[in-house]
Amino acid sequence: MIALVTLGEMMVTVSTIEPGPFTPGRTARLSVAGAEATVAIGVGRLGHRTAWMGRVGADPAGDMARDVLRAEGVDVSRTRTEPALPTGLMLRQRRTADRTLASYYRKGLAGSRLAPEDVDEELVAAARVLHVTGITPALGPGPRKAVLRAVSMARSAGVTVSFDVNYRSLLWSREEAAAVLRPVIGAADIVFAGLDEAALFTEAATPDEAALALSALGPRQTVIKLGGEGALALVDGKVVVQPAVPVTAVDPVGAGDAFVAGYLAAHLDGASPADRLHTAAVCGAFSVSVPGDWEGLPRRSELALLAGDDVLR
Ligand code: ATP
Repeated sequence: MIALVTLGEMMVTVSTIEPGPFTPGRTARLSVAGAEATVAIGVGRLGHRTAWMGRVGADPAGDMARDVLRAEGVDVSRTRTEPALPTGLMLRQRRTADRTLASYYRKGLAGSRLAPEDVDEELVAAARVLHVTGITPALGPGPRKAVLRAVSMARSAGVTVSFDVNYRSLLWSREEAAAVLRPVIGAADIVFAGLDEAALFTEAATPDEAALALSALGPRQTVIKLGGEGALALVDGKVVVQPAVPVTAVDPVGAGDAFVAGYLAAHLDGASPADRLHTAAVCGAFSVSVPGDWEGLPRRSELALLAGDDVLR
């Protein structure tokens, strides 16, 4: 039985390792990325079955995306291959030791052809959680309709809807994003946002106010992610605060998705709000301590390594 279903886009990533401009012969690391796929992998590593729906190209990049998910045990049986369009690409140039520039090549490519008919109703209705993000609706009208359809199917079937705002300024304006995503917040049970993202919908300035304002739109669980400061949640009217787990951060990318994976896996375990947030923060800390978006996500047996519990020495 699949516990968590998600849908979105995956891209191949080419990331330079040494700081500096792109030059011929420079060493780069090849991988794949996608916010929803990271969540599916993360929840899977923590012991729950997951499925990812999307479209990839009939090319080596699409094969790699599918292979990674399969190897991680994510169900890709509903993933489609777009015969005539390539899989999207992200180039990450480590321009200085501290700053990485990302260039995206995704517009009009395979992932953006996601359509409402790609959403498998049986799969969604049988899951316990549907997870969607604000990236997919920004990819075009097809992906937007697909997300709305999935959310509406989940609601009709009584499946918990999880939504990470994940605003991407390169894809759309704040105004457009706010208009499209507000109803998704209204339909969601669990919402994740950064403070900047909460500001799409509210003028609230502090994490508590932001959580309260987003909760007023509908969700019973609102989680405000605060980077190295940790997170704050408002669950059934009660505030829970979670400091970040201190680690040496080497790569901030993917922390938010790792955090969401931890929170949702703990939710599926039936954990308390405080325990959900704690697992989330541990997963976020794992993610920032290892290069790559999803590679550093913990398995259940590894959580104790950063959880402050007694660990194997
Ligand atoms: P991104 O979009 O870059 O993946 P995000 O903005 O959605 O990330 P963040 O708030 O940056 O999410 O991070 C999510 C969580 O990961 C934080 O709430 C925190 O628990 C953990 N985290 C982030 N940065 C650090 C850090 N430097 N050290 C420890 N934990 C961190």
